[in-house]
Amino acid sequence: MKPVYLLISLLLITLMACSTMKEMKEKQAMISIIPKPVSVIQHEGQFILDKNSSLEFNSSDKDLISISEYFNSILIKSAGFQLPINNKSSKKIILKLVTEKIGKEGYELNVTDNEVVIKGNDYPGIFYGIESLLQLLPPEIYSKTKVANIEWSIPAATIKDAPKYQWRGMHLDVSRHFFKTDVVKRYIDYLAYHKLNVFHWHLTDDQGWRIEIKKYPKLSEISAWRVDRTGINWNEREQAKQGEKTPYGGFYTQDEVKDVIEYAAKRYITIVPEIEMPGHALAVLAAYPELSCTGGPFMVAGGQYWPITHIFCAGNDDTFTFLENVLDEVMALFPGKYIHIGGDEAAKDEWQKCPKCQARIKAEGLKDEVELQSYFVKRIEKFVASKGKTLIGWDEIIDGGLPERAAVMSWRGMEGGTLAMKEGHDVVMSPYQFVYFDYLQGDKAKEPEGPGAILPLEKVYSFEPMPEGIDKNLQKHLLGGQANVWTEFIPTEARIEYMLFPRIAALSESVWTESSQKDYKDFMKRMDTQRKRYDALKVDYAKTAWGYK
Ligand SMILES: [Zn+2]
Repeated sequence: MKPVYLLISLLLITLMACSTMKEMKEKQAMISIIPKPVSVIQHEGQFILDKNSSLEFNSSDKDLISISEYFNSILIKSAGFQLPINNKSSKKIILKLVTEKIGKEGYELNVTDNEVVIKGNDYPGIFYGIESLLQLLPPEIYSKTKVANIEWSIPAATIKDAPKYQWRGMHLDVSRHFFKTDVVKRYIDYLAYHKLNVFHWHLTDDQGWRIEIKKYPKLSEISAWRVDRTGINWNEREQAKQGEKTPYGGFYTQDEVKDVIEYAAKRYITIVPEIEMPGHALAVLAAYPELSCTGGPFMVAGGQYWPITHIFCAGNDDTFTFLENVLDEVMALFPGKYIHIGGDEAAKDEWQKCPKCQARIKAEGLKDEVELQSYFVKRIEKFVASKGKTLIGWDEIIDGGLPERAAVMSWRGMEGGTLAMKEGHDVVMSPYQFVYFDYLQGDKAKEPEGPGAILPLEKVYSFEPMPEGIDKNLQKHLLGGQANVWTEFIPTEARIEYMLFPRIAALSESVWTESSQKDYKDFMKRMDTQRKRYDALKVDYAKTAWGYK
């Protein structure tokens, strides 16, 4: 061989080696799990998922049956087949509940050419192992229709994972705009895909009451309906006039609520219902004006004319009887530990003028109307606790003194939550500066109508629920973090999707992944694949973070 040919051969060999290296690197990049796991090691090889694969688990275990059905329900849509159970196939996906130390809600996922093993100490852990398995498959696995000409390959890998916080929440306001249960269920699916485990259902507000309460039928007949001011900017909507027709709205029957709770439970999501008090009560007062300070009459608000000063009368014992009866039915429906009672933005104007409220202040030896709100919340807390539940409220419930056992959801910043933690209360951080998903994602001129503030993806990603510099022994009081979707400017499901995606991905990493593992550039790299999953789901996600491309 002439030296020149030898040189060319060597060059070719080097090029080939480089391209195999490049392929390997590309293969490595194939694993894009969001939220980022504790550790991911990729191996040579792959498991090809097809009709000859099967699922293997203890078939008398109800939770594992439910998890396998969940996996199959996704598979049947996109792949067009389901996996048989325990059929001695040589290629199998094994689900195992184990006692070896993996961690609360954690999982280990091992993929070889012939076997996928998902292990967890608890069922949520195994469920999250399935969620990660879905993300090892091609993004098309999320398609709602059958995908042709695709190999359902899963790269060989060892993944170890567990969440950072126990409360990984998303909220949805169904009062300002009403969304039927099928929309709510899809929303719950999106939470599950991102390993979030709390759905905070904002069921009542000035613009509509959304849950059937058997004892108070007027809540469904009157409080659930408002004037239709569609097309007018939310903040410029005129107050409803007496006698005006109220065609816009809706509510969930208790059977529908039970159905949604069950749907969420199969995804290891707990629903926290919110019943607002003492403010944000106008929808109730439209039906039961006798519970107000002034006696009314009132109409359900057609939009946000701020401030809305109408409030439950804290001097009237009938108010507490009403709220306790409502909460009785609510607590019987929702199996979770927490009941959210709002407590935010309660204007005190009417309490200042109301003889009953002033008499209560005197009788109870309270200093002012701020302490009257504290009296209100404490009285309700006592009732909630007597039923074995824990009260949680927005951080205004701290004002005037917090009930001993109450938990706090900190929205006006981190300060309220930090203060509550220092006093020994459990806290969920949900500061508007980081996690209010009703805020625009970028330049006003390019985004859909919304409130003025801007909350870009990167800012959400920078959200750290743990307050800086807080004592180690107080850190246990931080339950986790949550983002909120207020729907004043969100009239449709498509708009929910636009505001939720992709910021929900950034949130998931803020509440799941260790801070030391977080890196925005790395996140955005993985988001390239996550976008393909959103495409497969056909969700209308915002492309703002990619220059609208
Ligand atoms: Zn009053």
